[in-house]
Amino acid sequence: MDLNDLVVGAVVETKKKHPCGGSLWEIVGGGADRKIRCLTCGRYVVLSPDELKRRVRRMAEAKA
Ligand SMILES: [Zn+2]
Repeated sequence: MDLNDLVVGAVVETKKKHPCGGSLWEIVGGGADRKIRCLTCGRYVVLSPDELKRRVRRMAEAKA
């Protein structure tokens, strides 16, 4: 996974599911820490870019 792809607005699928059962996340914040929002339950999680890179399995199709 290229960090350059993990930009605000991108939707990604994580290797591990969120406790709510969802695995799709939208990246909502850039910078030193990346903020992502679970598309299933709407909760926010803040991760370092390296941690985000480790968790992402693939890019998902962006939602309109
Ligand atoms: Zn969730």
